[in-house]
Amino acid sequence: MSTLHIVVCIKVVPKPEEIAVDQETMLLIRDGVRSEINPPDMNAIEMALKLKDQYGGRISILSMGPLFFADYLRAPLAMGADHIYLMSDRQFGGADTLATTYTLAAGIRKLGNVDLIFCGEESSDGATGQVPAGLAEWLGINQLTQMDEVVIDPKKKLARGRREIKGGHLTLETPFPVVISAKTACNEPRFMDYTIKPWAFEEGRITIWRREDLEVEDDHIGLSGSPTRVSGLKQAPGRSRQRKFLKGNPAEIANQLGKILQATS
Ligand SMILES: Cc1cc2nc3c(=O)[nH]c(=O)nc-3n(C[C@H](O)[C@H](O)[C@H](O)COP(=O)(O)OP(=O)(O)OC[C@H]3O[C@@H](n4cnc5c(N)ncnc54)[C@H](O)[C@@H]3O)c2cc1C
Repeated sequence: MSTLHIVVCIKVVPKPEEIAVDQETMLLIRDGVRSEINPPDMNAIEMALKLKDQYGGRISILSMGPLFFADYLRAPLAMGADHIYLMSDRQFGGADTLATTYTLAAGIRKLGNVDLIFCGEESSDGATGQVPAGLAEWLGINQLTQMDEVVIDPKKKLARGRREIKGGHLTLETPFPVVISAKTACNEPRFMDYTIKPWAFEEGRITIWRREDLEVEDDHIGLSGSPTRVSGLKQAPGRSRQRKFLKGNPAEIANQLGKILQATS
C-alpha cells in the first residue's frame, strides 16, 4: 500500500465578471458572488492525480477561505482526490500573501507526512504568484516553480520537474518534501467521474479547521499578520461599446468606415 501523500492547495476565486471591491475595507467582495476553482489550480490537481494513478497514495485538498468555499472544493474529490481540509475563520480574513502562506504552512504541518505540495502558478484575483515560494519558505523545503511536467521516484523520495525556458527546457531534481507550482495550461484536467460524484458530495468528506485547531500566532494570521495594506483602489473606467448601422452601397459604406476608423485611432 503506497504511503505517498500529496497535498494540492486550491483557492476559490470570484468569476472574473463578478470581481468587485468593497470601497470601505478595500477587500474583494467574496460572499454571494458566483465563484469557481482558480483555473490554474485545475492543472495542479491534474498533475497530482496523474502521480496517484501511477503510484497510488492519497491526495489531500487544502484551502484557506470562507465556509462557502467548501462546496466548490468537492469537484476535485469527484476527479479522484481523497479528502478536503478547509481552514476557515474570521481571524484568517484579509490575509496578504505573507499571512496566507504562514497559515497554509500550519495546515501542512497539521496534516503531517506530506511528500509533495502542488499549487497553481497564480490566482486569477490576487495574481501575485507569491504563495508557492512563500509556502516553501515557511516550511523550510525546496520548491519547483512553473513546472510543465513532474516525475517522481517514491522509493528514492525524489521529484524531477521540467520547466520551459527560452530555446528549451530546464530539468530540476529535489528530494521530498517539495512545493511544486504547475505551469498554467500545462495539461488537460480530467472531468469529474460521475460514478464517484455522489461519494464526493456525501457528509464527512470535508474537515473544517478553525484558528484554535492550528498552531499559529495571532499576529501572523489574517489582517494582523499582513504588512501589505491596500491604501487605495481605482476602478478602471469600462469602455462603452457603440453600435452604428452604416447605410449606402459597399463603396459608400467603406468610405464611411474609413472615416470612423481614422477619427477613433
Ligand atoms: C486584487 C488583489 C490584489 C492583491 N494584491 C496583493 C499584494 O500585492 N500583496 C499581497 O501580499 N497580497 C495581495 N493580495 C492578497 C492575496 O490575494 C491573498 O493573500 C491570497 O490569499 C494569496 O495571494 P494570491 O491570490 O496572489 O495567490 P498566488 O500566489 O497568485 O496563488 C498561487 C497559488 O497558491 C495557492 N493559493 C493561493 N491562495 C490560496 C488560498 N487562500 N488557499 C489555498 N491555496 C491558495 C493556489 O494553488 C494558487 O494557484 C491581493 C488580493 C487581491 C484580490
